Amino acid sequence: MIPSSFTYKRAGSAEEALDLIAEHGEDAKFLAGGHSLLPLMKLRLAAPEVIIDLSGLADLSYIADQGSHVAIGALTRHHDVEHSELLGRQLPLLAHAASRVGDPQIRHRGTIGGSVAHADPASDLPAVLLALDAILVARGPGGEREIEIGDFFQGLFETTLEPDELLTEIRVPKPASAGWSFQKFAQRGLDWAIVGCAAQDGKVALVNMGGTPLRATAVESALAGGASPAEAAAHAAAGTSAADDIRATRAYREHLARVLVARALTEANSRSLSRTPRHATPTHPPPLFMIAARFGWYLPVSGHHHGVRRCGAGRGRRWGTMEACGYAAR
Ligand SMILES: Cc1cc2nc3c(=O)[nH]c(=O)nc-3n(C[C@H](O)[C@H](O)[C@H](O)COP(=O)(O)OP(=O)(O)OC[C@H]3O[C@@H](n4cnc5c(N)ncnc54)[C@H](O)[C@@H]3O)c2cc1C
Repeated sequence: MIPSSFTYKRAGSAEEALDLIAEHGEDAKFLAGGHSLLPLMKLRLAAPEVIIDLSGLADLSYIADQGSHVAIGALTRHHDVEHSELLGRQLPLLAHAASRVGDPQIRHRGTIGGSVAHADPASDLPAVLLALDAILVARGPGGEREIEIGDFFQGLFETTLEPDELLTEIRVPKPASAGWSFQKFAQRGLDWAIVGCAAQDGKVALVNMGGTPLRATAVESALAGGASPAEAAAHAAAGTSAADDIRATRAYREHLARVLVARALTEANSRSLSRTPRHATPTHPPPLFMIAARFGWYLPVSGHHHGVRRCGAGRGRRWGTMEACGYAAR
């Protein structure tokens, strides 16, 4: 669990990061949140000689409304994606999926750019961005280029990014409708998905059903042909190549894909009809909360589950206000 020795360099700007990678070539690796690279280094599955720390690049951490799309800096942390009011309003699928990545510690360190560049088919955000038809912006010695996300993932942990290129921005088009859903089946709340599914406007992408995040094209064609969610979801495993491993057999993953896609399409349809933004105040808050809010009472907090504090009474629970329960934001 101890990585091989390496030289640590800290970049102060994107230009400096590119100069450092040009100097050290393929022996060097960028480090963003470190939550994928460091575990690999500790297992000695990666042994870069030089680490170029990007965490000082504050100007690559932003979420900006650009009219037809939202631009997200590659160094933006999962926590900031999860809690962005702009994303909650314009791209609730992405904000919600970020809230399902790992646990709060991971979301406070991990970055959206690191998740995309790492290209782990079990990661949540690459599939979500695939369903949203995101455009990736990379900067290298030859300047800046745009890459359609559909062309980006080449294989397990493999992308079209050159070793001397820095992912700088993710541009996500604003969806046409309010119909979205993210479904994730995991053994524990903080785990990677055994299978996951993102749906938006009739586009469906799968987590962990092959060597890369995948678009469920057979499902999309069935939907375009007028199929119901249940009929379309029957095609969810078509064209996939899910792993058969200690966590699930391939047949079980295929079954999960059909179940999760059916749930996602049904939920997306119902959202599309109700058009409720993710950050809207719940229409029917429990009466106790309303009374407590009015009089400023304290309520018992039972701790975290899936990153959301749940409230309840009982022994051994901590006490907090309604705001500490996170109720107002959800
Ligand atoms: C216990 C645990 C649980 C997790 N659970 C989940 C989960 O449920 N869902 C999920 O999706 N993820 C999960 N993750 C992964 C987490 O989201 C990672 O933070 C993320 O995948 C990688 O982001 P990072 O910023 O940490 O990247 P790093 O680890 O710093 O980098 C990953 C790779 O990307 C490269 N890279 C990083 N930034 C750039 C850039 N801007 N340009 C070019 N290359 C770059 C690095 O060189 C490296 O090769 C989990 C991680 C852990 C440790």
